[in-house]
Amino acid sequence: MSKLFIHNSMSRRKEAFEPLDPAHVRMYVCGPTVYDFAHIGNARPVAVFDTLYRLLKRLYPRVTYARNITDIDDKIIERALERGVHIDSITEETIAAYRADMSAIGALPPDVEPRCTRTVPQMVAMIATLVEKKHAYVAEGHVLFDVASFKDYGRLSGRSRDEQIAGSRVEVAPYKKDPGDFVLWKPSAPEQPGWESPWGRGRPGWHIECSAMAKDVLGITIDIHGGGHDLIFPHHENEIAQSVCAHDGVTFSKYWMHNGFLVVNGEKMSKSLGNFFTVRQLLAKWPGEAIRLLLLKTHYRAPLDFTDDGLREAKGELDRFYQALRHSNDVVASGVRASAVENALCDDLNTAKAIAEMHDLARQLNSDRAPDAKAALLDAGSMLGLLGSQPEAWFKGETSDGPRESEIESAITARRDAKKRRDFAEADRIRSELKEKGVVLEDVPGGGTTWKRSG
Ligand code: AMP
Ligand code: ZN
Repeated sequence: MSKLFIHNSMSRRKEAFEPLDPAHVRMYVCGPTVYDFAHIGNARPVAVFDTLYRLLKRLYPRVTYARNITDIDDKIIERALERGVHIDSITEETIAAYRADMSAIGALPPDVEPRCTRTVPQMVAMIATLVEKKHAYVAEGHVLFDVASFKDYGRLSGRSRDEQIAGSRVEVAPYKKDPGDFVLWKPSAPEQPGWESPWGRGRPGWHIECSAMAKDVLGITIDIHGGGHDLIFPHHENEIAQSVCAHDGVTFSKYWMHNGFLVVNGEKMSKSLGNFFTVRQLLAKWPGEAIRLLLLKTHYRAPLDFTDDGLREAKGELDRFYQALRHSNDVVASGVRASAVENALCDDLNTAKAIAEMHDLARQLNSDRAPDAKAALLDAGSMLGLLGSQPEAWFKGETSDGPRESEIESAITARRDAKKRRDFAEADRIRSELKEKGVVLEDVPGGGTTWKRSG
């Protein structure tokens, strides 16, 4: 069996993975704030840590993977106000969509999905401990973490005190002892959601939510904590400060792992920039497996440039894998495991290399229809969360009697040009013509048009 090595963001080095308890590995990954559909950038950590989860389950007898749901957050409160609906209807709808979308890209459900709204007493208890131990103080109905009280503050991000303040969006408020101090608890107005606490009716800050949920479901020290690169500072730095100070210096997480950003033309894909595609929009056009393969083709720590061409290529690669399997439909796979693929994944999750190995296996299978090559290709697929369909079903999914993708794309371009010259009648005509052929166009914020087949 291969030995796992992972890059630890804390030491900034690749390290041998030595779990605290080899009989039970524990991993926590920061999950979604549930107020809107997940975009494809949000799906990257999901695909990456799902692949790690699959690998850990192969290497160790028991793994507990926790991914929280942030269902207390000011963005959720704002969204509910905008739409004039109850907060619960926003969060429940978003959670259901998230689970469906992540399952469509082949992600296994985590073992536990703690929710903030169900963990408030544990958050209050942790805040009370921090106040008691003089790592936090009460000011104007808020409870703030005193960053000067934790000597290791800044170790994960490697930021100096000045950089911490410049780089963070922490509010400068007169009641703070230090501008870097962050909120653990804040008061709620009567119309805002709130819970009773020793500091009055209020709600927790984002960072304490994760510290308390991780402890609640996994214990004081965990093996791996993950999330996107943007979470290193301040979120993970603050989680460490809270958890370590609440537990008298005991390590919070042995390993920290962070995925790089998914970018569009070099810019981070994000809701605030308006340059995003939701997983849902992409699933209307592409199989979830192609989206997953695209997310895994790039090493998780490198930036991933998202393009439609990239998706098309990923789809083509899957066609090749499934073609090799179809070609050997009648071959009974042996019990051989994909050791080269496992070795690649054990090297800090080198998915790019693992996928290259899969292409070698597919070529081999095409040329000799060997039972070992078939077994290894399928085993590799299960490690990466791919090739779970029957080849026939995969190819059937592609046959549609509607217009071809290239046809649709050129109609979209023609419609955009018509709109540019303000020929709206023509633009509308193109839209209805496609609609008659079973293709629905959707204009996305920030320009651009996506499409889906209506059935
Ligand atoms: P959020 O809902 O914004 O808190 O993000 C959920 C997860 O998605 C976090 O782990 C983020 O770091 C990650 N994430 C957000 N945007 C991107 C992106 N463009 N590329 C990769 N990961 C991202
Ligand atoms: Zn978190």
